[in-house]
Amino acid sequence: MSTAAAILKKGWCPGALRPMQSGDGLIVRVRPRVGRFDLDAARMLADAAQRLGNGHIDLTRRANLQIRGLSDNRLDEQQAELGRFGLLDDDAGSEAVRNVMVAPLAERGSVAYGIAERLEEILAGDPRLRGLPAKFGVLVDDGGPASIADERADMALRVASGFVAFGIDTPHGTRWLGACASRDAVELVVTAMQAVLECVPRTRMRDLSAAALSKLQLAVMPKLQPLPPLDPARGRVIGMLDDAAGVAAPFGRLEAGQLRRLADLAMMAGARDLRLSPWRTLYMRVRDAAAGQALLEGARAIGLIVDERDPLLRIEACPGAPACVSGTVDARGDARRLARLMAERRFGGTVHVSGCAKGCARSAPSDLVLVGEAGRYGVVRNGTARDAADRTIGPSDLELLLPEPSHG
Ligand code: SF4
Repeated sequence: MSTAAAILKKGWCPGALRPMQSGDGLIVRVRPRVGRFDLDAARMLADAAQRLGNGHIDLTRRANLQIRGLSDNRLDEQQAELGRFGLLDDDAGSEAVRNVMVAPLAERGSVAYGIAERLEEILAGDPRLRGLPAKFGVLVDDGGPASIADERADMALRVASGFVAFGIDTPHGTRWLGACASRDAVELVVTAMQAVLECVPRTRMRDLSAAALSKLQLAVMPKLQPLPPLDPARGRVIGMLDDAAGVAAPFGRLEAGQLRRLADLAMMAGARDLRLSPWRTLYMRVRDAAAGQALLEGARAIGLIVDERDPLLRIEACPGAPACVSGTVDARGDARRLARLMAERRFGGTVHVSGCAKGCARSAPSDLVLVGEAGRYGVVRNGTARDAADRTIGPSDLELLLPEPSHG
């Protein structure tokens, strides 16, 4: 199935049929249908990551999962495994365009689930939509306790009581244009995509010109009603949520053994699948609160994050050295030490530890940014990894960065 020509260079959006070459081997991105995979598939992914890759599994901000460190000659075996579990598309073109994020707690049979499932079918099957840019994506939210409505996607649908809101991405975030009946939502999105393709193929919504935007509005506004008020989206939440449990992976990375154990814990708690989210968190619908608590305790014991107050949730860090050849500092090891200091010193801000000035882990500003260079860190306050540093410190001096809490 694989060919050398099918392997993408760094910087592109990888898939399972067209993986990406990286410093530690090939990256295979798995896009499970409707953002979830059953527990046997989770065990297969863990085993494949260990046997065929380097054991590292990354959760992405587009609610996908990536197996890292494959060599070219193991790719066919990996694809065969994915195919056995229904995790492989018919061709690389379908895979590239099938970008649908769905609220993780949307249940099979719900309006949101049905819309997401149908959109995936259409995106994968309609050749006219192959002209959409590689990262073009649609979000389907259910307005539930793990609402993803505030995340960015080129087009967004939000299921509410009696209507579905439709929005598009702009340079300033989602602009909700109006509402339609749930039975019309899929057709509306396809109409909008076709309108964009007709005037500006391969363009993300946030980059549309004024002329293209008005053409899109001409196509969709007649199908929309005025938008009723929308409840605020709650956004990321982990721990117990009604009859579901949410856990986060530090820096978005799971090791193969963690995923295998999480599948076992989920099974014991009565869950049938693991659900991905754009927050790099995983959700499981559990039998009851006691089963959920037991799952969370088990997840904590294997190093996953189960508490919204955990400072690790406020730190972004790339792998750094030695995993990345551009890094000269152990960014994730130092980030873990900083997390302990943040808890001790009650530092409530955000932190980005970057192995070098490229800043792969985060492009938005953070309160404190450490940028690796020649084995030391440049220190940036309220900025990004590309900003000029005020000073440099060695990795052994991290405690100098956070003031002692004042007593009394
Ligand atoms: S920021 Fe630099 S060190 Fe970190 S992953 Fe990117 S290139 Fe590598």
